Amino acid sequence: MADSAALADVCNNLLSNAIKFSPPGSVIRLRVSVAAGQAQAALQDQGEGIPPELLPRIFEDFSTASTQGPTRARPGLGLGLALSKQVVELHSGAIWLESPGPGQGCTANLTLPLTEPDRPVAVVERTAGLDKKRVLVVEDNPDLIDIIALFISGISANLELATARSGFEALESIKNQVPHLIIMDVMMPGMNGIELLNRLRRLPATDRIPVMVLTGYSEATRLARDAGAQEVLLKPFDRKVFVSKVLQLLQTVQTGQHP
Ligand code: ADP
Repeated sequence: MADSAALADVCNNLLSNAIKFSPPGSVIRLRVSVAAGQAQAALQDQGEGIPPELLPRIFEDFSTASTQGPTRARPGLGLGLALSKQVVELHSGAIWLESPGPGQGCTANLTLPLTEPDRPVAVVERTAGLDKKRVLVVEDNPDLIDIIALFISGISANLELATARSGFEALESIKNQVPHLIIMDVMMPGMNGIELLNRLRRLPATDRIPVMVLTGYSEATRLARDAGAQEVLLKPFDRKVFVSKVLQLLQTVQTGQHP
């Protein structure tokens, strides 16, 4: 009685962390039990563990105990646990990590309430009532495209993503299919975001598409607003803020009231 695909992602994330942060050949134990109306799982590894001061923050976006950041041996953006917590809490469950300290392994715990067999199946409905919408992301940094794609896929399966690596590519893409929302970077090779915005605002087919600009420079905020951007987000941005702005802008499309 659960969203099995979403819960499988959670289990995969916990298992791959246990493997990623353990030395080769070490043992990983999974205990599964039912008690007090709850399903419980505990995944215990003998890996590098987590320092106690980091444990309370480990479920935040982009959180990592690793001081080297993502590496080839240990790729990861630090989003897996944050997304897992969201899914588990939508199922009224709980997820937490325990670690006696660095070098002493880590246990990931998961509890999920058991429901009556005839209860309706839970679905992690990312956002109820969002029709199919197309979002164009104009960004030349592939890592940022990945993050945005992840955030957007978490909002709704009804959001279709198109990407363009430059202003010129964006114009080509829009010619083929007009998006409902454009999310764009400012600093891009060739035509930058502000020039792209100016062009979009001059064309009748595109002058009303909501645009959210992402920039690392606060000075670009006014330029972007003057050029007709509805929203400007300063990098690095928070996932919750990003999601709520995207939803607000898509809402204006749904009701036909462009700001
Ligand atoms: P990612 O694995 O992509 O970095 P997660 O959100 O899944 O992101 O994990 C966040 C951080 O928590 C990891 O970068 C790592 O520092 C720490 N962590 C998670 N699971 C374990 C584990 N089993 N052992 C040690 N550290 C862990």
